Amino acid sequence: MREIPPIEDLGEGLWSIPVPVPHNPIGFTYVYALSAPGGPVLIDTGWNHDDSWEALVAGLARTGHTVDQVQGAIITHFHADHSGLTGRLREASDAWIVMHPHDIDVLARLTARDPDERAASVIEQMARAGFPTEDIDAFRASPLLFHPPAPPNGALADGERIDVPGLDLRAVWTPGHTPGHLCLHLPDRNLLFTGDHVLPRITPHVGQFPLDSTEGDPLGDFLTSQTRIGHLPEADRMLCLPSHETRFTDLLTRTRQIREHHEERLTLMVSLLAEGPTTLWELTSRLEWRRPWEAMRVPARHMAASETAAHLRTLEKRGLIKRNGSLDLPRWAAVTTNPRPE
Ligand SMILES: [Zn+2]
Ligand SMILES: [Zn+2]
Repeated sequence: MREIPPIEDLGEGLWSIPVPVPHNPIGFTYVYALSAPGGPVLIDTGWNHDDSWEALVAGLARTGHTVDQVQGAIITHFHADHSGLTGRLREASDAWIVMHPHDIDVLARLTARDPDERAASVIEQMARAGFPTEDIDAFRASPLLFHPPAPPNGALADGERIDVPGLDLRAVWTPGHTPGHLCLHLPDRNLLFTGDHVLPRITPHVGQFPLDSTEGDPLGDFLTSQTRIGHLPEADRMLCLPSHETRFTDLLTRTRQIREHHEERLTLMVSLLAEGPTTLWELTSRLEWRRPWEAMRVPARHMAASETAAHLRTLEKRGLIKRNGSLDLPRWAAVTTNPRPE
């Protein structure tokens, strides 16, 4: 488990408040509090747990505020380590909560669906990906439950500013990690809140759900979004404040490393798929992960498969691989480019 860093005063009314994510290797999420005339504005809220709530309330006290003074919160993306406390925050303060419209849509879809129905759909997808029975049984025994946070009551789209006098905070839409992920740019201070889009050491997870979707291209979007934030003014001298790990300044180096990491994996996958048609599970099990595949269980294996699926989708869009096999068990193979004999 990561050690929780201290609450920090970053100057001119900006504070960093690490909020623990109990029983999770990520350790904590940074909530950033910005002073503004109508009360503090938060970036993210943290995980829905009593310890996390207490850390947030205590952190705000250090900034000289009580939680009921919070006027609003911008949520970088819908994941529970960022959005989990929105309901409690709103109850305590009546704060506005905003998110990008695409993540609002994802939340609405997740909330509308019955949890059993959701689990059944994941099991079907795992079967089509070629997961063996023991993995599917393990998921059935303990399906990943998602507890949707309180829905936002406002949307923040690309390029928009929040309507708070004295705070020039602009939304930069960076889809990939989630469809509506937002980075937030404070141009006056050359600061960028990077959420989970860019982290200094971990490569953010980019998955595709449903696993065998033939729509969208989350990894392609993610790679474009990496390039895009590098085009912000003075990106080479920007201070980046991520949601996890530590602050960093080498944004352009980091986005290049993240892009290269994925390009290497894409190339590797094409070479593996040149050996013959392969199911999603087979390909995922042959790749390197942070932990050896054999030591991984569901849901980690399901997350890994969703990451592989996102890569397959990008390769499909680039015309380098294609699906064959049956609809019940699709297989992917590299498109052969051997020149025809004359
Ligand atoms: Zn996330
Ligand atoms: Zn996160």
